[in-house]
Amino acid sequence: MLPDYRPEPFVDFSVKANADAMRTALSKVGDELGRTYPLLIGGEHIELADTFDSLNPAKPSQVVGSFAKATVEHANQAVEVAATAFETWRNVAAEERARYLFRAAAVMRRRKFEFMAWLVYEVSKSWAEADADVAEAIDFMEYYGRQAIKFGGPQPVVAYNGEENELRYIPLGVTVVIPPWNFALAIMVGMTTAAIAAGNTVVLKPASASPAIAAQFVRLLVEEAGLPDGVVNFVPGSGGAMGDALVDHAKTRVIAFTGSKEIGLRIFERSAKLQPGQIWLKRTILEMGGKDGIVVDETADLDAAADAIVASAFGFQGQKCSACSRAIIVESVYDSVLKKVVDRTKKLTMGDPTDPKQHMGAVVDQKAFDKIREYIEIGKSEGRLMLGGETGDPADGYFIPPTIIADIAPEARLSLEEIFGPVLAFIKANDWKHALQIANNTEYGLTGAVFSRSRERLEEARRDFHVGNLYFNRKCTGALVGVQPFGGFNMSGTDSKAGGPDYLLLFTQAKTITDRF
Ligand code: GLU
Repeated sequence: MLPDYRPEPFVDFSVKANADAMRTALSKVGDELGRTYPLLIGGEHIELADTFDSLNPAKPSQVVGSFAKATVEHANQAVEVAATAFETWRNVAAEERARYLFRAAAVMRRRKFEFMAWLVYEVSKSWAEADADVAEAIDFMEYYGRQAIKFGGPQPVVAYNGEENELRYIPLGVTVVIPPWNFALAIMVGMTTAAIAAGNTVVLKPASASPAIAAQFVRLLVEEAGLPDGVVNFVPGSGGAMGDALVDHAKTRVIAFTGSKEIGLRIFERSAKLQPGQIWLKRTILEMGGKDGIVVDETADLDAAADAIVASAFGFQGQKCSACSRAIIVESVYDSVLKKVVDRTKKLTMGDPTDPKQHMGAVVDQKAFDKIREYIEIGKSEGRLMLGGETGDPADGYFIPPTIIADIAPEARLSLEEIFGPVLAFIKANDWKHALQIANNTEYGLTGAVFSRSRERLEEARRDFHVGNLYFNRKCTGALVGVQPFGGFNMSGTDSKAGGPDYLLLFTQAKTITDRF
């Protein structure tokens, strides 16, 4: 019997055996850096002369891997192959599809340190952040496998005399998966395995900053979990060129995307245009940005609030759509919370994350580095720089120190625009009501937290703080699969909940069958 789903426990690196295992994995993966990876279409490895490199953000001269660069023709070929594979895969029983996920989860669990090591090199995650990413990937597979079984058979409908009636969730077809680089393993695994667990076939275009970790996962699925050819196809390449082709293809049925608002909107618009020969309206599952706030009132435990703000703002260099990028503090405790946050942030260490002492690594690439620096300049003109701001030479790693800018007005750019880096704006509110109003004043609605000891206010926030993931008296990052289904409102996307009870259904359509004997 299948045990109930439980989130994967985190690794305790203070246990010597675990720290040793991580060091061994870092050294093993270190020896594997710089390899060249082909496309995978219908089980066929396709090597190309045209490649692009994935670099170590903490050491940009180090190539993590070189990747065959798929063209528009490859994109079209991958969708065709996935469409053919769908004709077989859609008839594989849900239990059998789920077992591929359970097997893949078991293999990943056994090799978890290795997967963590790839995340350390490719996206500059600290050991703890890499561990959380791998644990979440395992969780998605365990959770969606169980959901596939649950929704695999006939669903109950109201009985009616003289007929047998049933409702079944059937798959949709070719699913284009376009994951982000920030949860380079977890979100990529989640979207891919939800699609295949529901009976769809996948064309996976990994994020250009993190194709190596995706390649390791595809290899695990195909070589170790034995997934049939064509069910998952791997086509790294430029989003601008072949990404559009994947979205536009008439045989593409679903697009699952997590990333920026700009790209999400582009996909939404392009996918709405009917292509010659297309006989459906494409389904889009889009998870976009956030501009998430933590509200602290005068009744709150200010130390706990400061701890949570620091963890939420600077974990993985602030590169989470759930990250706290706005601390909204009522006037009477503003100076005190600001001081506590600055003092705690000063203690954070930053450097090459192969070293477990580092709390923070580098930001993902030159583009991110430049964009964050621009926002720091904007912030300096909009508020008072309290900490950080100065960066070194990006050739030595894309390091941006944790940056805190105080006295940002609620309508300032730093208060409203997603930066996706370690930059925290402090915003002063007149009182609780004003704080809640500020918390709701962005176009996003992803995560938020409130620190307060007032039950009445927490209840008010429960009702009126309009975010998909609302936390009381804790940090606003680190949602667990199945425990805190994750996804937001408004410009944060299409309101889906990854790791939630209805997520898998987004990859299906319901068919009602009535039989009169
Ligand atoms: N689910 C993650 C969290 O709760 C954030 C995902 C993201 O940044 O895309 O922190």
